[in-house]
Amino acid sequence: MEIIETIDKTRKIIAKAKSAGKKIGFVPTMGALHAGHLSLVDRARRDNDVVVVSIFVNPLQFGPREDFHKYPRTVKNDFALLRGHCDMVFAPASREMFPDDYSTRVEVKGPDDVLCARSRPGHFAGVATVVAKLFGIVSPDRAYFGQKDAQQAVIIRKMVRDLNFPVEVVMCPTIRESDGLAMSSRNAYLSGRQRGEAVVLFQGLKSAERMVAAGQKDALKIRRALLDLLRRTPSARVDYVEIVDKHSLRPVRSIAKEALLCMAVWIGKTRLIDNIELKIM
Ligand code: AMP
Repeated sequence: MEIIETIDKTRKIIAKAKSAGKKIGFVPTMGALHAGHLSLVDRARRDNDVVVVSIFVNPLQFGPREDFHKYPRTVKNDFALLRGHCDMVFAPASREMFPDDYSTRVEVKGPDDVLCARSRPGHFAGVATVVAKLFGIVSPDRAYFGQKDAQQAVIIRKMVRDLNFPVEVVMCPTIRESDGLAMSSRNAYLSGRQRGEAVVLFQGLKSAERMVAAGQKDALKIRRALLDLLRRTPSARVDYVEIVDKHSLRPVRSIAKEALLCMAVWIGKTRLIDNIELKIM
């Protein structure tokens, strides 16, 4: 496994692999890797000849009052975890990606003004910009994203379509802890008590799934039941709970066939997100 910090060297290695007819699978990450990230890497391994993982804590996607400076950076541990799972790690310094005269932004209008975008203005432009740039550097045939960040995946898919990137976007299921909490680099911020209470997100998703299985199609009723559950959890403060169309991310009133239940909840000072697809059987 090669660890590379420069754009030039990355492009040279990729160009050589491509000219030998190899398919490139790519997993963009911000590091602090866990089994959720590794599941994407292993899926990329199965589908491609060469697997590239990027580790870059992207300053563009953090708001001024967000956790950019305290975001967990565990690079040595990340390299150790990735060994044997991928061929190349692209781990650039901030200046390599965004030199002083950098000035381009990619904005995907529409899905970037709902759900998480309301409390994180500019976040998705930051994500789209860095992913566009990484696609330009790595030139992957396929790129892998987690369902946990459903809105991000919708936005990247749209960007790929709108800008004709020759990249197949592959979605991978959310990997969870044994009690159901979605794995996230931010779970490390939780105290012991908060970690215990954080399972309420998953419990809420599962109870909504049960309501749908029992015949409930009214989005408002499901949402209310969920908000009640979250209100009973002392350390939880709801940012949003929404039932939306899985493509447009616009709210639906009733679940016709399927819909996406998405939530963002503060547990103490940590904002966690999760989602589940609700299906009428
Ligand atoms: P991040 O490092 O948080 O930017 O995440 C990098 C990629 O890993 C994104 O595509 C995420 O959706 C994905 N990811 C993060 N957590 C999980 C998880 N628990 N299960 C599956 N994919 C995940």
